[in-house]
Amino acid sequence: MIRERAYPVDPWHIRETRLDLDLLAQSESVFALSNGHIGIRGNLDEGEPHGLPGTYLNSFYELRPLPYAEAGYGFPESGQTMVNVTNAKLMRLLVDDEPFDVRYGELRSHERTLDLRAGTLERIVEWVSPSGQGIRVRTVRMVSFTQRSVVAFLYEVEPLNDTARLILQSELVANEQLPVSSKDPRVAAVLDHPLQAEEMLEQRTGGLLVHRTKASDLRMAAAMEHLVEAPGKHAVTTEGHPDWLRTTVACKLEPGQKLRVVKLAAYGWSSNRSLPAVRDQVGAALASARLDGWEGLLEAQREYLDEFWDHSDVKVEGDPEVQQAVRFGLFHTLQAGARAEQRPIGSKGLSGPGYDGHTFWDAETFVLPALTYTQPAAAADVLRWRHSTLDLAKERAQTLGIQGAAFPWRTIRGQECSAYWPAGTAGFHIGADIADAVRRYVSATGDYDFEREVGLELLVETARLWRSLGHHDRHGRFHIDGVTGPDEYTAVVDDNIYTNLMAQQNLHAAADAAKRHPDLARKLGVDDEELASWRDAAAAVHIPYDRELGVHQQSEGFTRLQEWDFENTPPEAYPLLLNYPYFDLYRKQVVKQADLVMAMYIRGDAFTPEEKARNFAYYDARTVRDSSLSACIQAVMAAEVGFTELAHDYLGEAALMDLHDLHQNARDGVHVASLAGSWIALVAGLGGMRDYNGQLSFAPRLPSRIDGLEFSLLWRGLRLRVEVARDEVTYSLRNGGGSARLDILHHGKEVTVTQVKPVVLPIPAALPTGPAPTQPAGRAPVRRAATL
Ligand code: BGC
Repeated sequence: MIRERAYPVDPWHIRETRLDLDLLAQSESVFALSNGHIGIRGNLDEGEPHGLPGTYLNSFYELRPLPYAEAGYGFPESGQTMVNVTNAKLMRLLVDDEPFDVRYGELRSHERTLDLRAGTLERIVEWVSPSGQGIRVRTVRMVSFTQRSVVAFLYEVEPLNDTARLILQSELVANEQLPVSSKDPRVAAVLDHPLQAEEMLEQRTGGLLVHRTKASDLRMAAAMEHLVEAPGKHAVTTEGHPDWLRTTVACKLEPGQKLRVVKLAAYGWSSNRSLPAVRDQVGAALASARLDGWEGLLEAQREYLDEFWDHSDVKVEGDPEVQQAVRFGLFHTLQAGARAEQRPIGSKGLSGPGYDGHTFWDAETFVLPALTYTQPAAAADVLRWRHSTLDLAKERAQTLGIQGAAFPWRTIRGQECSAYWPAGTAGFHIGADIADAVRRYVSATGDYDFEREVGLELLVETARLWRSLGHHDRHGRFHIDGVTGPDEYTAVVDDNIYTNLMAQQNLHAAADAAKRHPDLARKLGVDDEELASWRDAAAAVHIPYDRELGVHQQSEGFTRLQEWDFENTPPEAYPLLLNYPYFDLYRKQVVKQADLVMAMYIRGDAFTPEEKARNFAYYDARTVRDSSLSACIQAVMAAEVGFTELAHDYLGEAALMDLHDLHQNARDGVHVASLAGSWIALVAGLGGMRDYNGQLSFAPRLPSRIDGLEFSLLWRGLRLRVEVARDEVTYSLRNGGGSARLDILHHGKEVTVTQVKPVVLPIPAALPTGPAPTQPAGRAPVRRAATL
């Protein structure tokens, strides 16, 4: 775990003030840069030492067999693993004849800064070589948001005390050797030499490499070019090999003189295009980068981010550490999704190899809410990508003997890649999560063209899945049996409440959308009978409830299972999945992550306030948060049932997940769902924002140590600003002109906001709360108030 305050608190920067080699892999994830299309880990420029080298292209993967000791019908046979592609980060320096390597000589200072407004990672180092030559190196890197195929690096070096002979070797390297992976199933499969060389071109100041994968048959090209500024005589040469290309700059500098090299790199890949086409694509990307040059790229990056922050920033007063972490989270959310452009958003974005680079429900349920209300075009693109995989999901449903579409639990290209049924395909709820994201997007934007283009079909095919997966019992009640809800510690259960409520919403949403677009619905084969069957099923969905305890059941029979012995579970036994057999977890009341509690947030309209309070207390006491997807949702519900201090604590956990490496696996990549979830914790939690049935509502209330909260939302083209102070809230419209009106609910009261004058409303006194929530022994979140 990273010690607290490893990164000093600063509202707009993540600064590492000294290099800790034991934390190298974690910091590589924290300092990863990406635009959703290309991702580069925060590896040191000289490549070594490293934790995990990594360069990724969205959806560039290799197939690998999924071997089973005891295979069964319908088990996926092939997995997909994100490939560590050609590395363009490498810039090795020789000082006189000694390699600049932080493990040798004297490292006088080493500072790295991720600038959240500039979109750059800067590194400043002073190093003395073993033979006594001092140098100062400053590097800056960026993955361009505006030119999605471009990565750029600035390398400056100057001798400090004596004339020095400096040789800078800047490289492209394919098939770099990776450290062997661990036994943790959440870690990626390491691929040995995944890239086959196809072409190499060397020119004086750069060149390119083209490779393809063996089984997935994808082709990629990486190109580089250098702009060199050095006083006096210097030499630039390039030499190549099928798997590497090296541009060497050699010069001799006096103290006070500086070598400055700008390295522009470009990536392209395709499953269809020919070698010349992919080669030309990266050539064109380089030409475009050259046109802007380093300064131009920097400027465009800042402008892009200025606009992003103007739309998306969340201001938190009173807890500067959370403020920093939330911005860090929003930055990584943007990095994961900004330019994904009809490709998936992986659970680690493109920041590391964890979970093989797969996308899960994390994207639709945790990342898309933040994007939908701030960057709606990026949200729509993710759903367009899902839609592009619909045929595969229909095929999968067919294989499973059900109708409609069964979306994969985890995938890169659209095929199911989970080899473990109970925590894989049985998580059918992903279909309803996709439908929920469609519903939310259309509700927030009013983009009915999107609904016609992709939304309706996604809703219809997922509704068909529920209708065919579930059944009416002899009393007419509708059950969905044998599925796994979000809580993966209780698997293959009957009537998981989250799944049932989400399916219910999915069935209604499909019927409503089919009514809005009858022509299209007919084309999809929807007739009145089918519509009626969706409505019937939705109306009859069974919601398991324990009358004696007065709480809902997460799934049928859950509350009669044996209790988990939390008192005798030592702290080092978490996460439980790595230390206890699944059979034991499955038959006891231990909850990995918000499940029923999640249902109470997304389907809050299905519970009374009293039910929410009782359920929250019951389930919080049994939830261990072994998944990083949990804390943000617990924050939302803690706030709703009146425990704002606890909401603050859970918010802190969600936001600090990677900066503090709370799950001790940040090395494999950042937890994008948790980071985006910190937006949910603030906006839906402390801000109380909901959007049930097309109605936008807020119920803000601040914990004692947060003095102010400010955020903006896009709703049907209008930009609403919400400023929460201790006793009152100001709602204002930032666009739309004099005639624009937005009807919202404030703590249940109807209010109209216009651009003419902000509306200022008091925060009503807190309602009496229900039973006080407690957590399993040793699992309480860090109390934020105690850290401030
Ligand atoms: C969680 C899933 C999640 C996956 C990827 C698992 O540990 O239980 O809900 O989708 O991680 O983040």
